[in-house]
Amino acid sequence: MWWSYQDVEEQKKRLQREIAKRKKRGDKFEVLPAPAGQKKLSTTFWGLAWCRNLESYQDYESRLPRGRSYLRQGKVYDLEIEPGKLSAVVAGSELYDTSIVIQPLPKKQWKQIVTSSAGQVGSMLDLLTGKLGDGLMKVLTDPDGGLFPKPKEIHFNCSCPDHADMCKHVSAVLYGVGVQLDTKPELLFTLRGVDQAELLSNASSAAITELSTSSGDLAGADLSAIFGIDLSAEMMPEPPVAKKTVKRATKKKVAAKKAAKKKPKEI
Ligand SMILES: [Zn+2]
Repeated sequence: MWWSYQDVEEQKKRLQREIAKRKKRGDKFEVLPAPAGQKKLSTTFWGLAWCRNLESYQDYESRLPRGRSYLRQGKVYDLEIEPGKLSAVVAGSELYDTSIVIQPLPKKQWKQIVTSSAGQVGSMLDLLTGKLGDGLMKVLTDPDGGLFPKPKEIHFNCSCPDHADMCKHVSAVLYGVGVQLDTKPELLFTLRGVDQAELLSNASSAAITELSTSSGDLAGADLSAIFGIDLSAEMMPEPPVAKKTVKRATKKKVAAKKAAKKKPKEI
């Protein structure tokens, strides 16, 4: 089918009218910003690993490029990442509602990941920024036992008339997750229904045991300084209300650093 310039313009106008109508109805209609042109869609450890996982499955191969270009053109709106579920509206020739169910990570698999990570995750910041050892990265990104969903765990639905296995709208949304993980990597854990703190607490509690056996006494030790679990200033984009806490945390950190300079660590 050939599209004339007028057809394309007419379609754009129709979409804009529909978007305006839905906004009036109360829908947010926030576009998911994605790098255009040849720039990489994702640049961080988690975003890249998500996209690599998608691209490793032949089942998806043929539909992925179209989805990528849809995303780059700013056609994905209102992406929601919830436990076991993704949803978004994608603008094609019309607005299509897309929902993708992603099975939660099997408990047994998560337990194995937690066990394999014991003592290897230095801090939440390290985990979320992907500053991890090669061995642990392998565990987390393993196609069978890692954190990313396999095709059999992904079920999708789109309101478009395309009956292919995976339409370009679903593919655009799946890629959108990769882009979102660049700024909100914790959403991967949300999506898979697991608590990333378990990786950390496991590591921390192992370290605590080690520490208490060697020093015999932990009283008075600044655990947040030792384990670097105070993330508030660097990583977590908090709502405006939390700003004061972030400021205070930063001041506290500066004070702690000064204090640490003055006297040598007691451990
Ligand atoms: Zn579709």
